[in-house]
Amino acid sequence: MIENAEQRMQFVFQLRQRGVIDARVLEAMEKIDRGAFVKGLFAERAYEDMPLPIACGQTISQPSVVGLMTQALNVEPRHKVLEIGTGSGYQAAVLSQLARRVYTVDRHKRLVAEAQEVFDQLGLANITALSADGTRGFPEQAPFDRIIVTAAAEDPPGPLLAELKTGGIMVVPVGQSDAVQVLIKVTRTESGFDYEELRQVRFVPLVEGMGAD
Ligand code: SAH
Repeated sequence: MIENAEQRMQFVFQLRQRGVIDARVLEAMEKIDRGAFVKGLFAERAYEDMPLPIACGQTISQPSVVGLMTQALNVEPRHKVLEIGTGSGYQAAVLSQLARRVYTVDRHKRLVAEAQEVFDQLGLANITALSADGTRGFPEQAPFDRIIVTAAAEDPPGPLLAELKTGGIMVVPVGQSDAVQVLIKVTRTESGFDYEELRQVRFVPLVEGMGAD
């Protein structure tokens, strides 16, 4: 829980103002303290609605974007969810409150190790964090009810589309890394895929292969 009551209220107020209205999502975000995922100099800004730098030159997403993506995923308690781009671990922690199990992968081993420490600290036992190249999907645990990609791809990666169950939803930012990207919601139907554009976003790029660390 975000300890300071005023910070907590302000945090939830900002989320609502930006369109995060799903009660379960708001409850999860009130419970998971973003401050636990932001280290060093920026820790005091953890409750502001802005992206912040984390290790390996990456960023923890803006809380309202985390909220809107989580809301678009429409996660149910029995779901198995895959996240590509663990980063700080914050998004996975929020998802862990809504799903049965969350698998999260990042190409940087260091980020996975640091996120795992926070998951342990917070007692979030239904998250499995692994270092892997998420552009290849995660065949060991496929198929998934929900997939969230928190780095921008030029197109929704084929291996990930293939690992989505029928009726499943994937949320992914699509576009060039140095430009404004569009957040896309992909729904797998009996006969193919439906695509819906949600809003403009800005994410770090989805990069093929493992990180150098
Ligand atoms: N969801 C994170 C923010 C992610 S930032 C949070 O809540 O903090 C995007 C992350 O995607 C970075 O950590 C980056 O290392 C990771 N990433 C980029 N390309 C990847 C790939 N091919 N496979 C796995 N992770 C990748």
